[in-house]
Amino acid sequence: MHNFDLIVLGGGAAGLLCAIEAGKRGRRVVLLERAEKIGKKILISGGGRCNFTNLQTQPKHFLSENPHFAKSALARYTPADFIALVEKHGISYHEKTLGQLFCDRSAMEIITMLESECRYANVKIVADAKISEVGRGTTFTVRCDATEYRAPALVVATGGISIPKMGATGFGYDLARQFGLNIVKTRPALVPLVFHPADRKRYSDLAGVSTDVIASAGNSAFREKMLFTHRGLSGPAILQASSYWREGEPLQIDLAPGREATEKIREAGTRTAAVAEKALREFLPSRLAERWLKFHPPKAWTNIALDAFERELHAWTVRPAGTEGYEKAEVTAGGVDTAELSSKTMESRKVPGLFFIGEVVDVTGHLGGFNFQWAWASAAAAGRAV
Ligand SMILES: Cc1cc2nc3c(=O)[nH]c(=O)nc-3n(C[C@H](O)[C@H](O)[C@H](O)COP(=O)(O)OP(=O)(O)OC[C@H]3O[C@@H](n4cnc5c(N)ncnc54)[C@H](O)[C@@H]3O)c2cc1C
Repeated sequence: MHNFDLIVLGGGAAGLLCAIEAGKRGRRVVLLERAEKIGKKILISGGGRCNFTNLQTQPKHFLSENPHFAKSALARYTPADFIALVEKHGISYHEKTLGQLFCDRSAMEIITMLESECRYANVKIVADAKISEVGRGTTFTVRCDATEYRAPALVVATGGISIPKMGATGFGYDLARQFGLNIVKTRPALVPLVFHPADRKRYSDLAGVSTDVIASAGNSAFREKMLFTHRGLSGPAILQASSYWREGEPLQIDLAPGREATEKIREAGTRTAAVAEKALREFLPSRLAERWLKFHPPKAWTNIALDAFERELHAWTVRPAGTEGYEKAEVTAGGVDTAELSSKTMESRKVPGLFFIGEVVDVTGHLGGFNFQWAWASAAAAGRAV
């Protein structure tokens, strides 16, 4: 039997930072990680360079049943706090776009940094830990292989269910249920969308074609790149909109953001399909321009018909058949209901000493470093409270 002040389940972004914060305050911390190595998702994040935060982080960049929940933690552990840690370890980084900070070299540097901070804070890391039972009497007990760990506080940082190939499981949700906590239904988010068969037939051979759009779902709109895939649509604009998209609902795509696409057609002496294609090619890749005209041609060359053609270009309504699912989703939306947790500490209201942090909680960030910022911020909130 091993006694600690805190047991952290999960050695991803959130679990590691929480263990560090608690360890630095003199708490005896053990962190149990199921995989053979910690931080696997950090390693593949941001294309191997880890988009570790976003300078523009604000509560509006997060989805949750309770949009106010994340505010307190985000205000108390800001991008500047994580940047200070990165700089302390001499990791060079750059802003790619829109406040997104990436490592210059490799995501591995973030893992090495967290490992070294864990050593400094005397955190005991147990990898390859197969947890068979979690119980609660006067303290929490976690049975793991032949060992039993005990502590008055338990932090669950086991992440979501996206990318099951990397070992993601619903362990955190099961544990929440075991302790009687409500779960907001989970769904894949930041995920490519799949066309209905008819649209797939029309557009799948455009796979690889990308263009600047505004993609809207629910009440949210994102101006970024959209990418055609063999099965549907992807690219940052679609990934962002996918988090707001719900099964059966339409997705709206403005293919000509901020432009009057028909201006050149109207000005032309003779209005023809060739003139229209040339006009569209000014802002759409040629294959897409040609395909658009094939399936959405102006009904006539009158001003009224061109008005309708213009409107459709700005509001292409796609009804996706679904998403590419958790296999391709960057994150899991939904999760442990924030109504169950204190927004200051992430502690369960029903079960004192039990905390949930990171992706397992019903807080999901936009694309661009926000999910890591939530992991760090919720981790710090719990790590400073235990
Ligand atoms: C391909 C990809 C790229 C991404 N890129 C970015 C990016 O650049 N920027 C960004 O902000 N976000 C990015 N994300 C999202 C980000 O990785 C997650 O939001 C973040 O890792 C969540 O941190 P977490 O600690 O809550 O969960 P995780 O990082 O998933 O960590 C959970 C840990 O718990 C462990 N675990 C699971 N079950 C158990 C169990 N039963 N017992 C013990 N341990 C267990 C897992 O093995 C894992 O190590 C990306 C996601 C993916 C899939």
